[in-house]
Amino acid sequence: MSASFERKLNNYAELLVRKGVNIRPGQRLHLTCPVEAAELGRRVADAAYRFGAKLVEVHWVDDAVTLSRFANAKAETFDEIPTARADAVIKGVARGDALLAIHAADPSLLKDQNPELVAKVQRMTQEYLQAYSASVMANKVNWCVASAAIGAWARQVFPEAPAGEQVARLWDAIFAATRADLDDPIAAWNQHVADLAARRAYLNERQFDALRYTGPGTDLTLGLPRNHVWMGGTGLAADGEEFIANLPTEEVFTLPHRERAEGTVASTRPLSYAGTLIDDFSLTFAGGKVVGLKARDGEDTLRRLVETDEGSARLGEVALVPHGSPISASGILFYNTLFDENASCHVAIGKAYPKCLDGGTEMSAGDLKAAGANHSLAHVDFMIGSDQLDIDGLSADGQSTPLMRAGEWA
Ligand code: ZN
Ligand code: ZN
Repeated sequence: MSASFERKLNNYAELLVRKGVNIRPGQRLHLTCPVEAAELGRRVADAAYRFGAKLVEVHWVDDAVTLSRFANAKAETFDEIPTARADAVIKGVARGDALLAIHAADPSLLKDQNPELVAKVQRMTQEYLQAYSASVMANKVNWCVASAAIGAWARQVFPEAPAGEQVARLWDAIFAATRADLDDPIAAWNQHVADLAARRAYLNERQFDALRYTGPGTDLTLGLPRNHVWMGGTGLAADGEEFIANLPTEEVFTLPHRERAEGTVASTRPLSYAGTLIDDFSLTFAGGKVVGLKARDGEDTLRRLVETDEGSARLGEVALVPHGSPISASGILFYNTLFDENASCHVAIGKAYPKCLDGGTEMSAGDLKAAGANHSLAHVDFMIGSDQLDIDGLSADGQSTPLMRAGEWA
């Protein structure tokens, strides 16, 4: 390990602890980490203890064991899912613990496995975690999702690089995307979240009635509910302290009205979902609902996703990201939503964040639905931005304001 790699890895671990979850003195931290990224996990634990964590509980995860089950276990045994980690984390949220999840997986891990079993496990897991996901999405505690370079993922991102260099290349890309390669990443993030705060303040002030998207294969109008709230950068946990839920993050986002999507939207980057790549796809909406879909690759997986439940045929998030964001400028396709969504304007199939409606986290399910917020077990982002996308904000009186031109803020 070179001295510069050491420095960046330490920077990154400290960034996740101080700006990501922003650990509070005396707080417990639940750290989910792939075994292949153990070196990062240990440094995160170091940083967490140095900055006041009372206890770091590590939940190690392993792609190889996940794959082993699909490859070796009998189909009739798939009526169970692993619950030990979920139970610990559910208990942790109830107690006010911080959550840091390092997600790094082979994007094609399950591509040759029985899609029905893959979908079944996905669904059972979503159901098991539903109440927990809702409280995390409502920012009951400080939480952060980040990533780490691992072999199978690095091979997919840098197939041309020599085998011995792929993981190092992916680490460099992660450090650049998260600004962990700078001398003072904490200061850089303070500036960046201030910029995002100014952007969301403008959009909140304007309260557009709808957004109109035009680009190659895309002509889509998305209604925005009354009292929608644009978010981005930092979130506030129930204790009133800031944290950054995704590292990296470049987006400002809110929710579209569940019944007001009209037209067709084309993907501009592949989507890795349930261990399968869905590529070159489009969705057509009427009255907010998917009424048609096409995909060059993974159409079956896309259809299963849209058919997860009633709400998975509708949209739950709309996010604006300039095409010139650092991740987009790198030109790297990460096959990982955490990074790719920050390279591109995107929307999400499925559940809306109640916090994107004024007072939404206090509303009943019925009130949320009536206000236009979508509900689903699923929440899956896909990318629609490019240097050819234009977006206009439409006021209720029909006035149109350019928001983005050729993928950049107008
Ligand atoms: Zn997003
Ligand atoms: Zn999302």
